[in-house]
Amino acid sequence: MKNDFNQTEAKWQNKWKDCKAFEASDDFTKPKFYGLIEFPYPSGTGMHVGHIKAYSGLEAICRKRRMQGYNVLFPIGFDAFGLPTENSAIKLGIHPRTLTNRNIAKFTEQLNRVGFSFDWSRVVDTTDPDYYKWTQWIFLKMFENGLVFRDTTLVNYCPNCRVVLSNEDSQGGKCDICHSDVIQKSKDVWYLRITAYADKLLQGLDGVDYPANIKQMQENWIGRSAGAFVSFKLSVGEELCIYTTRPDTLFGVTFMVMAPEHPVIEKYAAKIGNMDEIRAYRENCSKKTEFERTQLVKEKTGVKIEGLIAVNPVNGKEIPIYISDYVMMGYGTGAIMAVPAHDERDYEFARKFGIDIIEVIKGGDISNQAYTGDGEMVNSGFLDGLTNKKDSIKKAISALEEKGIGEEGVQYKMKDWAFNRQRYWGEPIPIIYCNKCGMVPVPYDELPLKLPPLENFEPGTDGESPLARIDSFVNCKCPKCGGDARRETDIMPQWAGSSWYFLRYLDPHNDKCFCDTEKMKYWMPVDWYNGGMEHVTRHMIYSRFWHRFLYDIGCVNTPEPYSKRTAQGMILGSDGEKMSKSRGNVVDPLDVVDLYGADVLRTYVLFMGDYGQSAPWSDSSVKGCKRFLDRVADLTEIVSGKGVTPQLERSFHKAVKKVTDDIESMKFNTAIACLMSLTNEIYSVGHLTSDELKVFIKLLSVRAPYLRGNQRAARR
Ligand SMILES: [Zn+2]
Ligand SMILES: [Zn+2]
Repeated sequence: MKNDFNQTEAKWQNKWKDCKAFEASDDFTKPKFYGLIEFPYPSGTGMHVGHIKAYSGLEAICRKRRMQGYNVLFPIGFDAFGLPTENSAIKLGIHPRTLTNRNIAKFTEQLNRVGFSFDWSRVVDTTDPDYYKWTQWIFLKMFENGLVFRDTTLVNYCPNCRVVLSNEDSQGGKCDICHSDVIQKSKDVWYLRITAYADKLLQGLDGVDYPANIKQMQENWIGRSAGAFVSFKLSVGEELCIYTTRPDTLFGVTFMVMAPEHPVIEKYAAKIGNMDEIRAYRENCSKKTEFERTQLVKEKTGVKIEGLIAVNPVNGKEIPIYISDYVMMGYGTGAIMAVPAHDERDYEFARKFGIDIIEVIKGGDISNQAYTGDGEMVNSGFLDGLTNKKDSIKKAISALEEKGIGEEGVQYKMKDWAFNRQRYWGEPIPIIYCNKCGMVPVPYDELPLKLPPLENFEPGTDGESPLARIDSFVNCKCPKCGGDARRETDIMPQWAGSSWYFLRYLDPHNDKCFCDTEKMKYWMPVDWYNGGMEHVTRHMIYSRFWHRFLYDIGCVNTPEPYSKRTAQGMILGSDGEKMSKSRGNVVDPLDVVDLYGADVLRTYVLFMGDYGQSAPWSDSSVKGCKRFLDRVADLTEIVSGKGVTPQLERSFHKAVKKVTDDIESMKFNTAIACLMSLTNEIYSVGHLTSDELKVFIKLLSVRAPYLRGNQRAARR
């Protein structure tokens, strides 16, 4: 601490701690407010100014709610399992437990120095066995309810981290952790059946206060589409089922495409004339990532299957079947019907392979390009003359159902959640394998199933968990029959612990259940949850799923965990680019605290622009905030018994109204601008009473709490 204002800050931090200023009370008679920020991942690099901005919004709102008489819960914790810590522990040669403790201590000190009004009596740490006991407990409840299963599939695999990644963690074909290229690998994987909750997750969006763009992102992620499943007869006798959102375009189907891995191909290999070509194509495909395979812009490739023909069920026409990498086994049924006249991808494919293109919807010029708009149906038998897709789809589905060749159905873009990692630093999956009894859950009274101590926690060379090397962990007795059994050695993914942490804050030390019911009844749902846009799909959908599941089994009292959600924008470097070590444009928040004091940092991150938008860091604006706060501190010099002028009094009232409203709508920058102009007005009048100064300081204090404590010392 270099400056006297840092000492003043320390004095007030201690005072707040001593008088438990920010601890929520379980006095259920008071009106409550539960403000939640996304708890940090305690990385070795410490906090970033982005964290400060992310927490400052609700910090201001929670401080305001306390002044308004609410019983405010504004908790903090650490989402501390996962690869970044494990990888740096390996690099540094220390245990991830030691490193996690060190990082948490560092974050705690930093958060305290900035003066956030968190309730430190309720800290949760997802790596604490007393916490992950309940993460495992919820997992077992899901297992009991049929929401957990194992399956062998092609998975996204990062060869560098040696882990299986979910689709969410490998967007763009890159590993979310190390940014290496992800490859496809056949693996035995644990899944959570999140797709069973797709409709509930969509319906739940009706009753919550999320901005329209956030709702839309979640809807797109879940990606519900309505359409039909249709059966196509193959020349070999088998039927091939496909899903389409446009069953009304069936008369325009001129070919089909299968995923290269489709099992039908190997099954009838003897009847197929060009298996060598097909196998070579498939081999090539396996080297591509899902992202590469499904990119819209790339040139279409494929191979016609010689000797296998399909029959269009609506007109009996024989049509060829191709394999192509843009059709994936994991999506839909692994095969599609192609309508080149009205689908861009099918159009390109048909053009390249010289396949017929039949117009069934009028309105475009199919000699030039696919027509994807609406219009009158033609060349379509019983559908001819219908003029909009709503009617034609309905009629097509009822005809399919009548003839027994298809039925109405829905599909989701969201896939089941790949829920395991072959690493060390995570929650052990509490399942035991017995030769006689199969998969047996670890009994509830044996939770937590603790991570065993381990010297060398590097992953195995074949992507096997390091836990598999510990015989004393692996070998166990079957809880059902008492025979020899083996433990699962995979761990849960990093998203597990954060899927329910907001419940543990309500009752962090309970060892009988994850949270007391009465406490949940009072505190839930979270009144306001603020965080980053990057967590709107993954973390928020996962945690809404867990919460909804807990609701369905009667363990929580609200179907949705969060009443309201907002998101802050990023802080960019002063060069307008994303802050990164390699660019050298990172600002350390504590450097600003050392130089100007925490009040300046806190005021600046809320002043730098629209809270929801990204904005570049500006040292000169930081200095501007410092000058403003100095001028506020100097107001004590013009305090007198003389009241303000009527005009200034009006300005005061207006400022109270504006600052109050602006905080609610997260327009922190305009609230601060309003206080800046009020300061100017006070100076031009030349005097104010100490009561008036108090009003001013209260308005400012949600951003600059130390100034309120000691105006004079905040001055340099
Ligand atoms: Zn990786
Ligand atoms: Zn057994």
